[in-house]
Amino acid sequence: MSQRAVVVTGAAGFIGSHVSRALVARGERVVGIDNFDPYYERALKERNAAETRGLADRIGSERRESAKGGSFALVEADITDARAMDELFAQERVVGVIHLAAKAGVRPSIADPVGYAHANVTGTSVLLEAARKVGVERMVVASSSSVYGNNPKTPFSEEDAVEHPISPYAATKRACELICDTHHYLTKMPTACLRFFTVFGPGQRPDLAIRLFMQRIARGEAITMFGDGSMSRDFTFIDDIVAGVLAAYDRIPSFGYRVWNLGHDHPVRLDEMIRTIERVVGKRAAITRAEPSAGDVERTWADLSRARRELDYAPGTAFEEGVARQWAWLREAGLA
Ligand code: NAD
Repeated sequence: MSQRAVVVTGAAGFIGSHVSRALVARGERVVGIDNFDPYYERALKERNAAETRGLADRIGSERRESAKGGSFALVEADITDARAMDELFAQERVVGVIHLAAKAGVRPSIADPVGYAHANVTGTSVLLEAARKVGVERMVVASSSSVYGNNPKTPFSEEDAVEHPISPYAATKRACELICDTHHYLTKMPTACLRFFTVFGPGQRPDLAIRLFMQRIARGEAITMFGDGSMSRDFTFIDDIVAGVLAAYDRIPSFGYRVWNLGHDHPVRLDEMIRTIERVVGKRAAITRAEPSAGDVERTWADLSRARRELDYAPGTAFEEGVARQWAWLREAGLA
């Protein structure tokens, strides 16, 4: 009988493809789900999935003798399709779920609150139900630092009130946390919600500032800086996020329901971020200024005490080093 599967939703996306590769590398049988949401180019997602498949093939040929896994299959499906999810969960004998699929942008959520609620809130509810029906042992769900809204207290702690998210996207993420908490109360299925703080590195989503700015600066095009440059983000390198996701997946059964911040604890101002990209790319930026966009929070900064203590989470990638690695990847991939 085949090994039980770990489902990764959003497996063709930025974080999902990195998490899938890390799971494959440690011998898991990964079944990815992605609907190739048109928010950004399908080709980029195909490339992510192909890289994961390539890794699984290499590992597979090295371990031909071994009975244990390290495989990857991607199913093109929508997580809001309850029938498809129920069937897939039953067929694949799912042991755990890492749920990263979502409509992910903050600004576009203001124009499409219904679409965001459907994909993020209904989608999460469908997956929890599919998981409950087949007795999944554990689930990890992507939340976001945006749930803190314009929290005046820094750094942001999991103990802080999160009652005033300021974008529909952030509200859907907070709603998912509450739904997971209730689901855990009723079913006892161990469930972790991870508040990611702006993730960057190779494969970063093309709508996010670092990638967008790198490409524009390299081409000599102007970049738009929202506000006076004092907005700040606790940028977190993808490898650190992946380590946190795997630790949460492994340890959640001892906690039941738990929320963890996964950030860097080193906020970077927007103007500093631009200077770092200029140094790495080796070109000056032409900057156009614009008013901050509604829905954008002023700052994010993760208090990592809980994640350090309970997950041994130790983000080790300095901002400039991460930016240099992202730039090297962008060039190698022929995207800049
Ligand atoms: P991404 O857009 O690259 O990946 C998400 C994937 O989910 C995409 O490939 C998309 O096609 C898929 N998807 C969307 N709707 C779907 C649906 N209905 N059914 C199946 N698949 C669907 O985004 P990402 O940056 O990798 O983000 C992953 C998760 O982390 C998301 O839940 C996001 O909200 C969260 N998050 C990301 C960041 C960040 O900085 N990247 C920060 C905080 C939270």
